[in-house]
Amino acid sequence: MAGLAIERVDVFQVDLPYSGGVYRLSGGREYRSFDATIVRVTTQNGLEGWGESTPFGSTWIASHALGVRAGIAEIAPRLIGLDPRRVDRINDAMDAALVGHLHAKTAIDVACWDVFGKSVGMPVCELLGGRTSVEMPVISSIYMGDPDDMRERVAKHRAAGYIAHSVKIGDEPSLDAERIAASLADKKPGEFFIVDANGGMTVESALRMLRLLPHGLDFALEAPCATWRECVSLRRRTDVPIIFDELATDDAAIIQLVSEDAAEGIGLKISKNGGLTRGRRQRDICVAAGYTVSVQETTGSDIAFAAIVHMGQTVPEKNLRCVLECRDIVALKTADGPFEVRNGRITAPTEPGLGITPRLDVLGEPVASYY
Ligand SMILES: [Mg+2]
Repeated sequence: MAGLAIERVDVFQVDLPYSGGVYRLSGGREYRSFDATIVRVTTQNGLEGWGESTPFGSTWIASHALGVRAGIAEIAPRLIGLDPRRVDRINDAMDAALVGHLHAKTAIDVACWDVFGKSVGMPVCELLGGRTSVEMPVISSIYMGDPDDMRERVAKHRAAGYIAHSVKIGDEPSLDAERIAASLADKKPGEFFIVDANGGMTVESALRMLRLLPHGLDFALEAPCATWRECVSLRRRTDVPIIFDELATDDAAIIQLVSEDAAEGIGLKISKNGGLTRGRRQRDICVAAGYTVSVQETTGSDIAFAAIVHMGQTVPEKNLRCVLECRDIVALKTADGPFEVRNGRITAPTEPGLGITPRLDVLGEPVASYY
């Protein structure tokens, strides 16, 4: 359609302070603020699409904020004049400009889906395959700490309506066992717990930790170890359900997971997994394999959350574990829109595109523009 070619790509940068002070992960990793890159794609006829990519610092997976913006600098000039609605072709062009660096491609990819939706008057979830009727549970993010304090933070989220909790562990086996037992101590019917070590355990420490747990605790273990070999080795020696996150980064990894029967599900994080175009394909592989999918982000603000919600809304109920309320993690609002969580659940809006209106005063002036 005439006029819908990409005319310019603008890049914005904002710092998103962690809402809880200091976020602690296994291996002594600490996070106080997250460097967000937000992209605006503008078409010749003036449609605007928005996307975000906010890595979880530079020590979670092989992505970092400067890399997002350096990647966009490689890619964006090659997209001028292309039709943003041809999302697979846009990704072909991005792959031709830069190998890998999925986190850099994500912000542009999501912005193209936003334009696509606005151009046809439909929300992104409908274009991704059609909305389900699921009221999606949002999952809490309980950082690693003192067991009693973790139990309290789970209780606070429960009081706010959360039925799904992601509990972080990953240092000393007996302390980790206490953290899990405390976090699950008040578990209510219908609640679901993911215990996430973020790759922080060895096979030995994981096996010791599992032996120390009280019998019958109901949870899935996410990202127990840092390497594929360790995770598969652990899986063969325990009956705890395993979820992959940091190691499930692209199509090839998810295909390998299925072929090795290495997990029960994945954390599909939009920027880790390469945006909505690739995420859509990975969702389909997971559904075909009977996996559960937690639709999440590495972190991010309102624009990242909108992409999560639209993707999550297309995952069948039996496969959808939860969506991540990443807005809870950061203390800055970058956009407005009808994304209200009620009783720990959310559904995608019906507005065209992502359904968000960015706060231009928060975003400030672009740090880079390509046209
Ligand atoms: Mg995780």
